Amino acid sequence: MSSITKNTYHDVPDHELGTIFATDLEQGLTPEEVANRYGTYGYNELEAKAGKPQWLKFILQFNQPLLYILIIAGTIKAFLGSWTNAWVIWGVTLINAIIGYVQEAKAEGAINSLSKSITTEATVFREGQKIRLPSKDLVPGDLVQLMSGDKVPADVRLLDIRNLQVDESALTGESVPVQKNLQILPSDTPLADRINMAYAGTFVTFGQGTGLVVATAKDTEVGKISQSMDKSVNLMTPLTRKFAEFSRVLLYIILALASFTFFVGIGRGEPPEEMFEAAVALAVSAIPEGLPAVVTITLAIGVNRMAARNAIVRKLPAVETLGGATVICSDKTGTLTENQMTVQEIYVGQENYEVTGGGYSSKGEIQRGEEIIKDLPFALQECLMCGLLCNDSQLKRKDKYKIVMGDPTEGALITVASKAGYSQSHFNNTFSRLDSIPFESDYQYMATLHDTSEHHPDTPRVIYVKGSVEKMLERCTQAYDLEGRIVDLDRTAILEQVEVMASKGLRVLAFARKVAPDHQHSIDHDDLEKDLIFIGLQGMIDPPRAEAIAAVHACQDAGIQVKMITGDHIATATAIAHRLGINKNGNLLSFEGKQISKMEPHEQEQAVIDGSVFARVAPEQKLQLVEILQSQGDVVAMTGDGVNDAPALKQAQIGIAMGKAGTDVARESSDMLLTDDNFASIEAAVEEGRTVYQNLKKAIAFLLPVNGGESMTILISALLARDLPILSLQVLWLNMINSVTMTVPLAFEPKSPDTMKRPPRDPNEGLLSGNLLKRVLAISAFNWILIFGMFEWALDFYSDADNTLAIARTMSIQALVLARIIYLISVSELGNSLIAKLKGQDISLGNVSAISYGIIGAVALQIVFSQVPFMNTLFRTAPLSINQWLICLIPLLPMIPVALLVNKFYPPHFSPLEEE
Ligand code: ADP
Ligand code: MG
Repeated sequence: MSSITKNTYHDVPDHELGTIFATDLEQGLTPEEVANRYGTYGYNELEAKAGKPQWLKFILQFNQPLLYILIIAGTIKAFLGSWTNAWVIWGVTLINAIIGYVQEAKAEGAINSLSKSITTEATVFREGQKIRLPSKDLVPGDLVQLMSGDKVPADVRLLDIRNLQVDESALTGESVPVQKNLQILPSDTPLADRINMAYAGTFVTFGQGTGLVVATAKDTEVGKISQSMDKSVNLMTPLTRKFAEFSRVLLYIILALASFTFFVGIGRGEPPEEMFEAAVALAVSAIPEGLPAVVTITLAIGVNRMAARNAIVRKLPAVETLGGATVICSDKTGTLTENQMTVQEIYVGQENYEVTGGGYSSKGEIQRGEEIIKDLPFALQECLMCGLLCNDSQLKRKDKYKIVMGDPTEGALITVASKAGYSQSHFNNTFSRLDSIPFESDYQYMATLHDTSEHHPDTPRVIYVKGSVEKMLERCTQAYDLEGRIVDLDRTAILEQVEVMASKGLRVLAFARKVAPDHQHSIDHDDLEKDLIFIGLQGMIDPPRAEAIAAVHACQDAGIQVKMITGDHIATATAIAHRLGINKNGNLLSFEGKQISKMEPHEQEQAVIDGSVFARVAPEQKLQLVEILQSQGDVVAMTGDGVNDAPALKQAQIGIAMGKAGTDVARESSDMLLTDDNFASIEAAVEEGRTVYQNLKKAIAFLLPVNGGESMTILISALLARDLPILSLQVLWLNMINSVTMTVPLAFEPKSPDTMKRPPRDPNEGLLSGNLLKRVLAISAFNWILIFGMFEWALDFYSDADNTLAIARTMSIQALVLARIIYLISVSELGNSLIAKLKGQDISLGNVSAISYGIIGAVALQIVFSQVPFMNTLFRTAPLSINQWLICLIPLLPMIPVALLVNKFYPPHFSPLEEE
C-alpha cells in the first residue's frame, strides 16, 4: 500500500482497487491493518483553518468608534502636556481591549469546544462487521457505507450504489445534487464530473451506496483546497449589531456635544485647556465603555447554561433569538414522545390480536381475547416475519436491559416477533437478504428482498415491505386471509381498524409482501409500485415523555405556541397531542399535509395559524409552514432531523437539530442541537434565552444612567462655566472600573421566577425603547441631581479646606457609587426576592453570590480610589474623613424610593405580565 503513487481513482477498474489499497472489497480492513495505516496517514481530520491571528483579533478590539474618541482624546492631552492624563486614558483603552479580547476568546472557545463534542460518525465495514465509528478514525482502504443525510466522511470511490445523489455544492458550488454512477471514467475527467466518486464534505441527499476510502484528511480534495473546517465563530448577533449601530449614533452625538461645549467656552473667553478638559470629560462620560464586555459575557454565560441543559448552541445569535421565540414546531417521535415503542395490537386476516409485555423484553404473549395463541396462523406468522426481516435495527443487551441499535419502531417489531419465539439472527440466516431499500421519510416505507429457496423452493425470492398504511394500501389490491389464501383487499375494514388503533395513540405500520421472479437479486422502488399482497397491521405505543408534558405547559404559559409536525398518521398524532396538552387556546385542530397543499393561500395561512398538529407532513412542507408563520410576525423555532429538513431549519429563526437521531445534513443546517433529542430541552433553552435577554436589559438599565448622570452634570457645568464636578479621568474610573465590577454580576443573574409566565417579547421592539429608555432617563436625572447637589454642597461646606475641589469631587463620586449599590440591588433578582420577603412571602434569596461579590468589590475599590495617596495623585481625589463618608451615604436614602418607583412604573422586564 505504500506503493500508491496515483492520486486519482475515478479511472481505475474496480478489481485493481483492492490490490492498490490492499483491502478486501467484501470484508474491509482488519484492525491490525487499520492500526498500521494510522502511522502513515494519521487521523481523518483537517486541522482547523487558522482564523484571524491572535494579534489581529486583539488589534481589532480597538476598532470601535467609541474607542477612537478615547485614543484621540489621550493624544491631544499628550500634546497639551498632561502626560498623566494621556497615559490613564490610553491605559483605560488598553484595559478595555484586553477585557474584550479575553471575553471573545472565551465565548469562541465555549462554542468551539461544544461543537467539537459533537462528532460525525461513519458506517464502516471492518473484518466483515458493519460498525459505526467517528469519521476521524477512517483510513484509506476502509470500506464505508453512505446513506441519505450523511456527510461523506472522506474521498470515496463508489463500488455499489442505489440512486445515490450527492450535494456537492460545498466543493463545486453547484447546488443541484449529482446523480452518481459506477462507470470507469477517463483520466482527464474534471472533478465535478467524476460521478463514480463521492468527496469528503459533500452530503448524500438521496439513496445509498458503499465505497472505498481513497483519501483522508489533507489528501482529500477539500483538504487540498482546505477551505472547509473554517472554525472561526461569528460572534455578531442581532443585538451586538444593534449595539454597534447605537454606538455609531452615540459617537456623533458625543462629538457634536463635545465640540459645542468646547466652542461655547472658547467664545466666552475661557482658557482652551479647561474647555478641552470639559469636552473630553463629556465625551468620555457619555461612552458606556463597559458595555461590550458585559454583552459578550452575558451571551457566553447563556451558551454555557444552555449546554448544561442539553441544548448546544452552534450559532451565537440563537442564544438571544431563542428568548424571543413565539412558536415552537416540534417533531413528535422521539422529541415529544419517548421513542420507546412496544407493539400492543396486531390485525391480520380480519382478526385482532393483543400483545402483552413492555419494553424490549421478550416476555409477553400474543393473545386473542383471553386465549394465548401458541399455534400462529399463517398471516400472523408472515406479519411477524415481515417485521423481523424487513428491519435494519438490532437489539443489544446492555447491563440488565436490551437497547435498540437503530430505529425504535423496528426494535418493537423485533421484540414482538421474539414473543412468538422468532429469533432475528436465525431468520436472517435462513432467509438471507439480497437487497434492501432502507426507510426514508419521503417514501414512508422500507423493503427487503430475500432468498427463500431453501424453505420454499417454489417461491425462491420474496420481497417484504413495511410502511405507512397509506403507502401500503396504494400498492395492494389483494390480501392474505388468516390461513394464507389470497383474497380481495377490504380497504374499508382496514382503514376502520387503523382509525381505532390510531385514535388510541398507537403508531400503526402496515406489512405486505410480494413474490419476486426466481433470479431477481436487487430491488428498486419500481418493483414496489403494485401487486403487493397485504399481510396486516401492527400498532405500537410510543408514550409522551413525562417531561414533554410539563414543558408543553410551560411553553403555553409563556405565550409560546407549540405545534406538532410529524410524518405519522393524523389520528395517532392528534391522540398524542391531546395527551401532551398541545392546543391553541383550548382548541386542538389537526391538519394533514395533503389537505393543506390543496388549500387556497389564505386558507393555508389560517390553517397554519390555528392548527396544532400537522400530520403526514412532507419535509418540503415544513419550509412552507415556517414561511407562513414568519409572515405573521412569528419568531419560529423548528426541529428537524432528515435530509430534507435542512431548508426549513435554515429558514426558521432557530433551527433545532437532533443530536442523537439527526442526520449530518440537518445538524449542519441548525442553529442549535439537542443532545437528548428532548422537547423539554427546547423549553429549557427558551427559558435560558429569555434570561440572557433580560440580564442584558438589566445591565443596560444599570449601566446607562451613570453615563447619563455624568454627562448631564458635565454638560451643564461646562455651559454654566462652573467647575466640573467630575474630571475626565474620574469619569473613566467610574465607567470602566466601577461599572464593570458592578455590571458583570448581572450577567450571572439567575432567572426570575416569572421568566416563563410572561408572553414573549415583541419581536419588533427595539432594545432601548419604551420602559428601558424612560428608566434610564429617570435614573440619569436622579444621578445628575446627586452629583451636582453633593458637589455644590461640599464646595460650599468645605470652602476653607486647602483642597476643596478635590474633596467635593471625591465626595460626589463616592455618593454616586453608594447610591448605585441600591440601584443595582433594585434591578437584580436579589431586590425582587427581598421585596417579596418584606411582603411576607416565604421565599429564599436564591444565589446572590455574584451580586454580593460585585458590591463588595466595588466598595473596596472605591476605598482605594480615595484613601490611597497614589490614587489621590493619579485621579486627583482626596482622602475622605469618616464624617465625609457618612455624608456620602445620605443620597442612598432617596435612591430607595426612586428605585422602587422606577421598578413599579418601568419594570426591568422584557414584557409585562398578562394581568399588568
Ligand atoms: P415521525 O414524525 O413520526 O418520526 P416518520 O417520518 O419517521 O414520522 O414516519 C412516517 C411514517 O412512516 C410512520 O407513520 C410509519 O408509518 C412509517 N415508518 C416509520 N418508520 C418506519 C420504518 N422504520 N420502516 C417502515 N416504515 C416506517
Ligand atoms: Mg421518525
